[in-house]
Amino acid sequence: MSNNTTRDSKNFNKAALEYHRMEPKGKIEVVPSKPHSSARDLSLAYSPGVAIPCLEIEKNPSAIYEYTGKGNLVAVISNGTAVLGLGDIGAEASKPVMEGKGLLFKIFADINVFDIEINEKDPDKFIEIVKGIAPTFGGINLEDIKAPEAFYIEQRLKDELDIPLMHDDQHGTAIISAAALLNALEIAGKSIGQVKMVVNGAGAAAVACTKLYLAMGLRRENVVMCDSKGVISTSRTNLTPEKVEFIADTTATTLEEALVGADVFVGLSKGDVMSASMLLSMNENPIVFGLANPDPEIDYNLAMNTRNDVLMATGRSDFPNQVNNVLGFPYIFRGALDVQASCINEEMKLAAVYAIADLAKESVPEAVILAYNLKSLNFGRDYFIPKPFDNRLITKVSAAVARAAMESGVARRPIENFKEYENTLLD
Ligand code: NAP
Ligand code: MG
Repeated sequence: MSNNTTRDSKNFNKAALEYHRMEPKGKIEVVPSKPHSSARDLSLAYSPGVAIPCLEIEKNPSAIYEYTGKGNLVAVISNGTAVLGLGDIGAEASKPVMEGKGLLFKIFADINVFDIEINEKDPDKFIEIVKGIAPTFGGINLEDIKAPEAFYIEQRLKDELDIPLMHDDQHGTAIISAAALLNALEIAGKSIGQVKMVVNGAGAAAVACTKLYLAMGLRRENVVMCDSKGVISTSRTNLTPEKVEFIADTTATTLEEALVGADVFVGLSKGDVMSASMLLSMNENPIVFGLANPDPEIDYNLAMNTRNDVLMATGRSDFPNQVNNVLGFPYIFRGALDVQASCINEEMKLAAVYAIADLAKESVPEAVILAYNLKSLNFGRDYFIPKPFDNRLITKVSAAVARAAMESGVARRPIENFKEYENTLLD
């Protein structure tokens, strides 16, 4: 690292601490949403007036959506076991991330968030705690929980609760990268049913992404998955149930061998594990998603300098085509909450995928181009995923998710007029 880079990163770290320490400390606060300046206001807000909605809800539990903030309140819940790329740093140390997620929910979709950090690693106990506090919330975003426990925790909570719930590290990533994949395939002139894919990584994100691509038409026999020990094939023993699902019938044992002739590489593993020669061994117009953070599986500039037909996405904002979960979770929950969906199902996730993919193909408003200090943004190799500050996301993605919830029969409060609904989202 040069002296300048070291100085820049020291300055940035200092700024990050100052940003969080600024008064009021942290990143979110609670703001009253009703008049509260007179004695009468307070008698309505609290005793005796508050008893009247309490009794209404006791008579009719769904009235909770009418008389409280539940319908627009999401819990961002973690036990701190897989925080960012930092690992198991504990519930307390995860709080800045959960507050940050709350900030993103609020600014992009006007959803209120309570961040909840739970000091419990035992999956069954964790599940009981989440179930116990669920009545407070309209939806639950599970965050930064370690695999394989995260798979079990999410599945049981989905089965046992009747509000929208999603582990964003799995499904948020799957949805955004799937949208990117559809568009990259279109540019490459390839079809999802025919491409050969290598997935590097077999953790929470990799498993969820691959399952979603399979649901979209990727053929099981065309997928090779690798973990830290190499290709997951019939010669491997002691595999977790999630890995067993992806055993490939191949003689390849290393990433290098698996990549020869592949059309798509999806990296959800570790930085710099893919070399230039591995990239050169891939098929023409190779699609390379180097999503490990902060350093992709292959450096963006190295990939670009190695081949000029590569279609690349990363998890970083300083290169084109960032796979950023913020394109999904605020609007997926917005749509799900607005129809009081009882879950977030596959239909709703796929609707989000197609809405995000389609948006990248529409002409980009001037305001978005300016927000990124660019001259133009046109669908192609350098732009196949929408930008986070594109305010068309809220209408396109939320409406698509709400509609899918209605069509798949999980909406408890269907939207009657979508035009009006989209207008309310823009207010
Ligand atoms: P995880 O559950 O801990 O899984 C990591 C996986 O990577 C494990 O299966 C591990 O293998 C595998 N791995 C480690 N070193 C490897 C190597 N040299 N070659 C092949 N596989 C290797 O983590 P996760 O949540 O899925 O996240 C994985 C990575 O993706 C992280 O870097 C994360 O930052 C990134 N990510 C990016 C986005 C985004 O861009 N939007 C979203 C989510 C995650 P073993 O199973 O053998 O341990
Ligand atoms: Mg996360």
